[in-house]
Amino acid sequence: MKLSQRFPLLPFPPLGVDFLTMLFLSSCLFLTSLFPNYQQLETPEKQRELAPKIEAYRPITREYFQRYSSYFGRRTNPYPGNHEGLDIAAPLGSPVRAWKSGEVVRLSSGRGCGTNITIKAENYQYRYCHLQGTVVTWETKKAYLNKGHRLYLGQKVKAGEIVAFVGSTGYSTGPHLHIEIKKIKGKNKRLIDPLPLLKKSQW
Ligand SMILES: [Zn+2]
Repeated sequence: MKLSQRFPLLPFPPLGVDFLTMLFLSSCLFLTSLFPNYQQLETPEKQRELAPKIEAYRPITREYFQRYSSYFGRRTNPYPGNHEGLDIAAPLGSPVRAWKSGEVVRLSSGRGCGTNITIKAENYQYRYCHLQGTVVTWETKKAYLNKGHRLYLGQKVKAGEIVAFVGSTGYSTGPHLHIEIKKIKGKNKRLIDPLPLLKKSQW
């Protein structure tokens, strides 16, 4: 049986109740068209879009984090002087993630900082020290190399991306990551305490 035979009046509803229904529906449509934002907010896609984007990740994730082995500022042990960063103890070879999206601006091997990388992101520079591996020249490009992993000078990285691995190179008494944050633009260009920013970042 055809639908039109079963419900012969379907395309032409009789006037009366259906007229009121149509009136109600059209006024609903009219009212929602007056508030397009309200309509958009209702969709899950729109809600996801409006949710704050996670753009800062802790360099050491929860599963590798052991403890803060040395804080920013003055210290006496094991090397006296001013500690320019924050030390996070983690097992040898633990992945180090980029704190924020940025660009690799420096790769070096020093006696103090050991194998280290610097990533520039907006007004700040993030430096990671005592890394596992070395800095080499790979196919005419300078690169951080650790086993099969390579990170090139000038490479763009995304927040949360694995960039390096925890080591114990340079002045270090055991595997840990030393992180330094330096403000490089605007007022008060200086090294800052990474801990408050770390606590606001996603694990
Ligand atoms: Zn340190």
